[in-house]
Amino acid sequence: MAAASFIPFALPDITEAEVDAVAEAVRSGWLTTGRNAHAFEVEFAAAIAPGRTAVAVNSATAGLHLALEAVGVGPGDEVIVPAWTFTATAEVVRYLGAQPVIVDVDAATLNIDLDAAERAVTDRTRAVIPVHFAGLGVSPSALAAFASRHGLSVVEDAAHAIPTTTEGEMVGTGSDAVVFSFYATKTMTTGEGGMVLVSDDALATRMRTMRLHGINRDVFDRYQSTTPSWHYEVVAPGFKYNLPDPAAAMGRVQLGRSAAMGARRAEIAATYDSAFADLPLHLPAGPQAKDAHAWHLYVIRMQDDSGIDRDGFISRMAEAGVGTSVHFIPLHLHPVWRDLCDQHEEDLPVATAEFKKVVSLPIFSSMTQDQVHRVIEAVREILA
Ligand SMILES: *Cc1c(COP(=O)(O)O)cnc(C)c1O
Repeated sequence: MAAASFIPFALPDITEAEVDAVAEAVRSGWLTTGRNAHAFEVEFAAAIAPGRTAVAVNSATAGLHLALEAVGVGPGDEVIVPAWTFTATAEVVRYLGAQPVIVDVDAATLNIDLDAAERAVTDRTRAVIPVHFAGLGVSPSALAAFASRHGLSVVEDAAHAIPTTTEGEMVGTGSDAVVFSFYATKTMTTGEGGMVLVSDDALATRMRTMRLHGINRDVFDRYQSTTPSWHYEVVAPGFKYNLPDPAAAMGRVQLGRSAAMGARRAEIAATYDSAFADLPLHLPAGPQAKDAHAWHLYVIRMQDDSGIDRDGFISRMAEAGVGTSVHFIPLHLHPVWRDLCDQHEEDLPVATAEFKKVVSLPIFSSMTQDQVHRVIEAVREILA
């Protein structure tokens, strides 16, 4: 019975340890941002980028918004984003009254094409938001060279990238801010949540203030401090983006399991790579030697000789009891960005063409060997 059940495209990997940690946090009576969120920030920075400062938020979308605000993006500015991403990457630019400028991606990696980005720079360009698609890193040296040539801020969308290393460096090492997502389907989760890492303390202070209504002291500081706890000042019209403690408690356990969960994803990706090597399929780009790919997604692409188109393949997989998805519908194919950015299929030829071919196969750390083999059988049945 279990062997025949539907294999979902993604599932969170939650053990009794997460359940216990959340229960303990709830029982403690401290439900908003407090001891757990503070500890999660410290532990996350230590694990991912020692020396950087972490700011916990209630989503990556919130983190991207705060980071762009902190680096000074505002009305009239342009921010370069890749076509191959989730809408959040562009939406946060609009929150600030700035204009997203969509650029094409590299056909091999589906990551931002920095030559296309180069051509998109104007005297209004303020920042760039690279996305480490599927968990494969964008070159930090190429990114830093591009940004410094044009005086741009770099805010990395690392929603897929725990853990990702590129050129031997953990993601985010060379940028102004790097933003991670703990959404339910991501490589580690708090249900909803996110984390921003920065090296400039002024940016961290601004984001801490803006994530809680523009108040210059959060409720936990006030509770712990010796100065009167009722007193605070609002110094800016801020947002409500703080991470609650029960979510942070889950995140602390997930962080401790992150290396093992990442190893399992890499093992599944390697199993797929070898099982599909002889099929008429374009397999996803792997990391450079010694680098870590987070394998948030395993995206195959149909070829002209696959004998089936993408939509047909997805239907056949569903009939075989396997869930799949598509990452991404490029930004310019959504009505809102087509209209707001006035960028069309012919302006973004790679993203437009590759969109028709992509399918995301199930990959999650709690996947059993039996499920992995059933996915392989289904794919081989359709394509071999
Ligand atoms: C999931 C995702 C986001 C948004 O993350 P949230 O935590 O849900 O706000 C942003 N960018 C990309 C590329 C994503 O995949």
